[in-house]
Amino acid sequence: MIKKTLTLDYGGSFDGEVLDLLISEEDIQDRIKHLARKISTDYKKKKKPPIIIGVLNGSFYFMADLLRAMSIEAEMDFIKISSYQKTGSTGTIRLIKDISADITDRDLILVEDIVDTGLSINYLRKHFENSHPGSVRVATLLYKKEITKVETEPEYVGFEIPDQFVVGYGLDIEQQYRRLRDIFAMNPPPTNQ
Ligand code: 5GP
Repeated sequence: MIKKTLTLDYGGSFDGEVLDLLISEEDIQDRIKHLARKISTDYKKKKKPPIIIGVLNGSFYFMADLLRAMSIEAEMDFIKISSYQKTGSTGTIRLIKDISADITDRDLILVEDIVDTGLSINYLRKHFENSHPGSVRVATLLYKKEITKVETEPEYVGFEIPDQFVVGYGLDIEQQYRRLRDIFAMNPPPTNQ
């Protein structure tokens, strides 16, 4: 079988790099349906619907597909933080846009595209807990479990993936390629042995 690849060609610093298909559109959508069913069951009996908070920019396709696959009502809001440049995480988090909803005593589900170092979700859980919500859970499409240092594990995980830089389905490289329906992974640089 021919392996699906993506050759970067966008006038940026990674032009010419060949990325391999990691997760297909079909597998992404199947897994999202599964997560949506689980979330709907878990929150069905709550007095008020949960507030789903998307972490911009990367989570917007995942958030949209997840919400539409759910069978319960939910409110939605967005937060924007910046935590990484190019292909690595910097270690400092900056809040760029906060949510507008009143979250006191409400059940929150933070929707992330990927948990990598874990810095972002550690920061976000603390940020929201200061406003005394009823509960805070994290749903992430991708989880680099082997390298992540989280204080609390994400409650809903789409796929555990290896420590490779990934692109597509909302995830960018230098702000490009977010629109791809599949997820591609950059190969690690060769070691000189
Ligand atoms: P963390 O704080 O867990 O290190 O990562 C948070 C953010 O860094 C993610 O929401 C995502 O925007 C970005 N990021 C981390 N790993 C990757 C990756 O492999 N590919 C892309 N495109 N972005 C990533």
